Amino acid sequence: MHEEGKVESARTFVLSNGEVDFLWWFIQGSIMDPGVRARLYANWGLCSRHSLGFLVVEAAFRPHLIHGCTILYGELMRRALHVLDDRGIHGLVPGRVSRHLLHAPGPCHLCDLGYHERSEGNVPPDRLAQGRDMTNAVRFAADNRRGWLPYVCGRCAGTDSPVLCRLHLIEAMEHEGVQIAKSQHASILSISTHLSTFENSFRWDLRGTDTAEDRGALISAIGWCSGWTELIRSLLPLAGKICPP
Ligand SMILES: [Zn+2]
Ligand SMILES: [Zn+2]
Repeated sequence: MHEEGKVESARTFVLSNGEVDFLWWFIQGSIMDPGVRARLYANWGLCSRHSLGFLVVEAAFRPHLIHGCTILYGELMRRALHVLDDRGIHGLVPGRVSRHLLHAPGPCHLCDLGYHERSEGNVPPDRLAQGRDMTNAVRFAADNRRGWLPYVCGRCAGTDSPVLCRLHLIEAMEHEGVQIAKSQHASILSISTHLSTFENSFRWDLRGTDTAEDRGALISAIGWCSGWTELIRSLLPLAGKICPP
């Protein structure tokens, strides 16, 4: 850890011992369990707190290889595109089916296992301190700010941006009609395309092909799938202003 790059962590976001314990094993490979993968896919990832926790822990232990998070959210954004593409909205799949598919059918995997901000665990002190340290996640968000800033949900952030996260898109489709999904297609496509480029850049032959827009798409995808609430509360203010000047 480089001391000169140390950033004050948000006091509101401290992962519990149990959460670090789980997420550490998660990034070691338990995320690859087929049942877990299927559940994460069906539920659009994790809740707002635990999706940030996943990013924080993976960035803390593997600052140059935030791979598990990228693969999961890359897959989910491809799913979003599939559910909401132009054909889905205007053609074969009725809008109410698309809206239904945007709902998570069950609780967040970690919440469901009983993990929360006071969960106890058996993480050794060094690992606990490293897993809680938000420095790398904040640096990742700050360095790639231009990749996520245009995609912050206006309703989560309380701005007049027309961009919506999944949760607010469901709400808007319920109140304003399914056609509103069409207005979100371009941003969802853009997040998915940039995130795919970032994901591919983990391949040796494509290393270095990713840009700040591509890396920032990981934050956008987490925000889109899980809502921006916890990101806005605990991470993004440390990475620069959330609203454009
Ligand atoms: Zn959760
Ligand atoms: Zn939102």
